[in-house]
This record gives sequence, C-alpha cells and structure tokens, in this order.
Amino acid sequence: MTDLDHLVVVQEHDLSLDRLRRQRATLPARSDLANAESAIAAITPGLSDLAAQRDVVARDAHRLDDEVASVREKSVAADKSLYSGKVTAIKELQALQTEIDQLVARQGVLEDRELELMQALETLEAEVAALDAQVQVHTAAAALARLEISSGEADLDAQIAVVVEARNSEAYGLPSALLATYELVRGRANGVGVARLVGNTCQGCRLSIPANEIDRIKRGIPGESCCDNCGAILVP
Ligand SMILES: [Zn+2]
Repeated sequence: MTDLDHLVVVQEHDLSLDRLRRQRATLPARSDLANAESAIAAITPGLSDLAAQRDVVARDAHRLDDEVASVREKSVAADKSLYSGKVTAIKELQALQTEIDQLVARQGVLEDRELELMQALETLEAEVAALDAQVQVHTAAAALARLEISSGEADLDAQIAVVVEARNSEAYGLPSALLATYELVRGRANGVGVARLVGNTCQGCRLSIPANEIDRIKRGIPGESCCDNCGAILVP
C-alpha cells in the first residue's frame, strides 16, 4: 500500500469519527432533556407564586380560626354571667345580652370569612398539587434522559476509542507534510481531505477533471496534486 492508500483509510476512520462525534452531540435524549428542563422552567415561577399565595391564605385562615375561638370563649363567658344569677341589675343584664348578641354576630362574620378562606385554600392546594405533579413527571423524564445520555455517551466513547486507535495506527509513519495538507484540506472541504481519482472523476466532489490535468497528476509526485474544485489530495 502506498502512503496515499493509507491516507484514504485514515480518512475513512476520520469520517467514522465525524459521524460518531455528531451522533454523540445529537443523542435524541439530549433534546428530551432540554424539553423536560424547559417545561420545568416554564412551570416553576407559576408554581412558586401559587405556593406563596397558598401559604398566605393558610396563615390568614389559621389566624381567623384563633379569632373565632377567642370570640366564642368571650361569648360563652358572657352567657355564663348572664345565667349565673350573680348579675341581677336589669341594666347590667341588658348590657350582657347586648354584648352576647354582638359577639355572636361577630363570630358569624368571622366564620363566613373563614369558610371563604378555606374554599380558596382548597382551590389553591389543588392547583399547587396539579403543577407539582407536572413537575414530577418532567423531573422523572429528565432523570431518564440523563441516564440515556450517559449510557449513549459511554457506548459512543468506546466506539470512538476503537476508531481513534485504528486511525492512529493507519496514520503512523505517514509523512507529516502529507498529513498536515490532508488535515488542512479536510478542515476546509466538508471533511474530505483526500479523494480517489476514478476515471476522470474526483470522488471527493464528483466533478470531472480535464484529460490534460489527469496526465499531469499521473506523472506528478504522489500527494502533490489536489482537485481544483474541492481541494482534496488526489489519489490516481
Ligand atoms: Zn474534488
């Protein structure tokens, strides 16, 4: 095998590496992960707002509950005084009755308000739970995607390592100037640095090369003729 034949095989390995690296960069699980993460990011602000509202309402409801209990206590105490027989003056009894009526009315207002808050709390808790459930679904999907990514990467890395080894042993001993030209051209011309000349067609770009040019290539120093179109080193 000539140096150029080896170079063609080096390129086959390089093209395999390009493909494997592209595959690694575009594992389907990467877009699954990105989708799950953006879904979580979209839900989170609304969820935090709702949870904060829920906490405020829960605190208000608790405070109101304490207030109802204290009003109830006062009204029970006043009721006890009213029927204790200790208070006998009509005016005092009337005052007690008025106080009791006011306390009962106040308790009613507070209880109505508490009921409203409990209903609001229930609604908020249901909304928070629904969003929480969505976050959990996306979190599980993200975790699964991460697992798939790492196993996909491990699998491809192992394949890449094998090809890199084969590539390097194929390239071993090739003239460094030839390899440098190859790398340079390959970097410019969509991954093709060396191409066989089949008939009068460059296999790198599939373009025909004029007959007089073919003659010149065949007579010239191997590795020094490049396709005018794609720049690939031509292998006669
Ligand atoms: Zn070409």
